[in-house]
Amino acid sequence: MALILIVEDEVELVKVLRSYLEQAGFTVITAYRGDAGLAAWESRRPDLVILDLNLPGMDGLEVARQIRRKSNTPIIMLTARVEEADQLIGLELGADDYITKPFSPRVVVARARALLRRVEAATEPPHLLRVADLEIDLDGHTVHRNGEPVELTPTEFNLLATLAAQPGSAFTRLQLLEASQGTAYEGYERTIDAHIKNLRAKLESDPRNPQYIETVFGVGYRFARS
Ligand code: CA
Repeated sequence: MALILIVEDEVELVKVLRSYLEQAGFTVITAYRGDAGLAAWESRRPDLVILDLNLPGMDGLEVARQIRRKSNTPIIMLTARVEEADQLIGLELGADDYITKPFSPRVVVARARALLRRVEAATEPPHLLRVADLEIDLDGHTVHRNGEPVELTPTEFNLLATLAAQPGSAFTRLQLLEASQGTAYEGYERTIDAHIKNLRAKLESDPRNPQYIETVFGVGYRFARS
């Protein structure tokens, strides 16, 4: 579970925040001065910092600056007034979120969760599907064959991604229509044949003798099991 550092000189507030964050499953460490907060960040390298702006020892701005010099640890700034938050945003010191006092501890927990999710999502490797000699990037909507880009229309891409996600499984035209366009009307299933034909023309070395997308007679299509 994520480690959260709270740097805040209001002892009662730290108590409440700690208890809410711990109930939410986080591990919490605390500091009551800016300089002590920076030292705690250095030694423990938390996943997230909740940082008060007005602190003894070193103010929150300076703590944030020092942290930013060395890392992208997400920071939530606590400010006493809305105007302070506005000024801070203008400074672009690198805090990821601002919460104005007084606040509900639940809001802090929700924002911490959201911020950690965002950071996690940003560092996750791209969602790639590798089948045969194809590389299908499901986030970037790109396809490479033997490292060479293949240009597909959105419908063709969705068709390929659907089929390639389950090699060997046959899909009906209606299923493919729905997967590729989000809707399916009976009677339009044959439009899939046209898309498959185009897809094969772009992907296959010999579209008449396809090695990726096979016809399943009486059913529809499937991606070849390699
Ligand atoms: Ca304070």
